[in-house]
Amino acid sequence: MIGFELSDEQKQFQALARTFAKETIIPVAAHHDREESYPEEVVRQAHEVGLLNVSVPEAVGGLGLSMLDEAIIAEELGYGCMGIYTILMASELGIMPLLLAATPEQQARFLAPLLEGPKLAAFALSEPNNGSDAGGLRTRAVFDGDEIVISGTKTWISNGGIADFTVVFATYEPELKHRGTVAVVVEHDRPGLSCNKLHGKLGQRASPTYEMVFDDVRVPIGNMLGEKGDGFKIAMRTLDKTRIPVAAGAVGVLRRALDESRAYALEREAFGQPIARFQAIQFKLADMKIALETARWQTWHAAWLADSGRPHAEAAAIAKAYASDAAFAAAQEAINVFGGYGYMNEYPVEKLMRDVKLNQIYEGTNEIQRVVIARHVLQ
Ligand SMILES: Cc1cc2nc3c(=O)[nH]c(=O)nc-3n(C[C@H](O)[C@H](O)[C@H](O)COP(=O)(O)OP(=O)(O)OC[C@H]3O[C@@H](n4cnc5c(N)ncnc54)[C@H](O)[C@@H]3O)c2cc1C
Repeated sequence: MIGFELSDEQKQFQALARTFAKETIIPVAAHHDREESYPEEVVRQAHEVGLLNVSVPEAVGGLGLSMLDEAIIAEELGYGCMGIYTILMASELGIMPLLLAATPEQQARFLAPLLEGPKLAAFALSEPNNGSDAGGLRTRAVFDGDEIVISGTKTWISNGGIADFTVVFATYEPELKHRGTVAVVVEHDRPGLSCNKLHGKLGQRASPTYEMVFDDVRVPIGNMLGEKGDGFKIAMRTLDKTRIPVAAGAVGVLRRALDESRAYALEREAFGQPIARFQAIQFKLADMKIALETARWQTWHAAWLADSGRPHAEAAAIAKAYASDAAFAAAQEAINVFGGYGYMNEYPVEKLMRDVKLNQIYEGTNEIQRVVIARHVLQ
């Protein structure tokens, strides 16, 4: 039996997120993109209406929304602005290792406080010398009595300087490669942690990205998730899930590209008629629609697999690679539909392309998604 009907609760969240995107995100998105500024007020309001940190479990007072719920919300917020949505998405990325590997005591200690205000989490795996090769971490975790001492540098960390805590992946035994890694929750008031905002991003400029420097940062051993040696496994299991909201955000960008193109094509005239009359333009819209439906169903299917406890790594990789590639292609075609105006930041479509480029890169590049998919194909 296959059901394609959203529940009443899912429809409510969809409507809430759609209204939030329309009324709260879209009016300020271009401003924050231009200024490369953090949309503090939007995040505050997202917390207020219940769209922030939605995966925090009910057991500690959260909504405990499923992956499919999150995908439905992600599409709406990504439609509004992928950069602003990345702030919320990166917080869920920081929460996911705790959903997968934290004890109930750790969940209560770290996740419950996130609900008290517009607070954020972050996830720090990437380093200056290795992003894709996540087994080759250089950030060190030294066990010292009942403490872990972390030293090293992480980079490209979304929310890094504004989060309340970051889940940090580090090695305690580099020779063991991925088997010698740990996942540790580091609260941001620990001495020895400094965060530097990175500037000059192509897109998603509202989302702040940081370099994080750990200079002998001490945390209690009780901040470690799972066991010694579990770090890499926790990181990979996290990404197998969180690639689904990355895909869903891209679906939102794709839908926006189609909506903007449709509206413009009906209004803009050339050779005495709306450009929507030209088959060349119609086919662009049709291709966007094909990609939109395909990307959404694959994303929802991956979410359903994850929610029902079935293997979902391959489906999530397909969703992430397909949706982000398709959204980038659609955004590019939207610029073509707009002609010369599409090239100008007065219209929203050039931002869609700049923003969704990142969906092809973070949480594992689309080359890495293809590595994952090929591994399953050849298994
Ligand atoms: C704005 C932004 C925000 C980010 N947010 C976060 C975050 O919150 N947390 C975090 O941990 N990271 C984050 N990242 C990092 C991101 O996940 C990495 O940039 C990404 O995984 C690629 O790593 P890299 O940049 O080191 O590229 P590299 O690993 O150096 O890859 C370079 C190129 O080689 C290809 N390549 C590498 N290995 C293989 C292989 N085995 N097979 C085929 N091709 C390969 C890659 O696909 C890519 O094309 C963010 C990045 C950006 C730009």
